[in-house]
Amino acid sequence: MSLRPDPREQTVWPGSRPSLCGLLKWMASDTYHWLGDGYGPHSPPPGEETFTDVHVRHLRQAMGSRVKVIQFNKEQESFNGADWELWIHNRSHGLGFRIQAKRESKEGQYGFRYWLKERDAFQCDLLIHDALVAGCIPVYLLYNHEAWAIRKDAAQMLCGHTAPDLSHYGCSLLSAHHVQAQLFGQALGVSRWISHVQLREMSAPWNQVLCDLKGKSGARGPRGTGMLKAIQRRAEGMERSGWATLQSVDRGDFASPSHACGGTPEVSVGSWLGDATDGEVREPVLRALPERVLGLLEADPLRPPEQPIPTRVVVLYDVTDGEETVNHLVGCVRC
Ligand SMILES: [Zn+2]
Repeated sequence: MSLRPDPREQTVWPGSRPSLCGLLKWMASDTYHWLGDGYGPHSPPPGEETFTDVHVRHLRQAMGSRVKVIQFNKEQESFNGADWELWIHNRSHGLGFRIQAKRESKEGQYGFRYWLKERDAFQCDLLIHDALVAGCIPVYLLYNHEAWAIRKDAAQMLCGHTAPDLSHYGCSLLSAHHVQAQLFGQALGVSRWISHVQLREMSAPWNQVLCDLKGKSGARGPRGTGMLKAIQRRAEGMERSGWATLQSVDRGDFASPSHACGGTPEVSVGSWLGDATDGEVREPVLRALPERVLGLLEADPLRPPEQPIPTRVVVLYDVTDGEETVNHLVGCVRC
């Protein structure tokens, strides 16, 4: 008798295919409790790399053919300001995030002040520089064990899908420009710089930014364009908010916080939004996927082409895979 399970009976996690919002919320909930347990009765908590690996695994397991995961050589990691890249796309258009994970310490701190000797710069400046080159939005993914009150202006932008026990706060996205603003304050020794608690409060639960469920305005549109635009609108809001914070702090005459701390890296500082960094909210215009990403969509995952700006993992999430039944009822881990 074969022990191999019948493929028709293979479990699609966690029951049937979840929405992206539902899955991200569940993963955030798991992170929140796992981290809380790690600082409590089940020490020590897992590291950032473990969380990232588990998240990529859940995305792959739960989303089936919607998700393509490409893993690269780990050795290149130390030269990079990013852990992974996430592209949400409809095979021709979409948006990419260059992601650096940071785990909240027991005391509510994050390792933002990380200096990469190999490139003589703060990881944050490299994250932004590399994201610009890669055509991605630079973000931190915070792993949290505490909840906070979302600012009213940010809450209006986000979807309303939350976990009853607030554990959806376990994973939140923060514009890297917010962190850059904080590093400038520290580097220049201004009397009051942005605290880590404030940075956390500027972040937003990832499921609420990347929500793929129909909003009040309705339709997904052909090939998921409505959904992609909704996600892009929230991502642009996050980027605009980070950029505005960076412009509001004293930066001396320095190009970046790395320069303010004596580094001489060749990093450019700019926004993914290009010239559209003012406060005005525009209708998002979907961007064509870069050739590099189109190449990854076609590539053999075991023999992927070399990437100009490497990272450990690239996750490609296809929104066009249509009308399958989506389980909206994925709860949080303990509710
Ligand atoms: Zn949602």
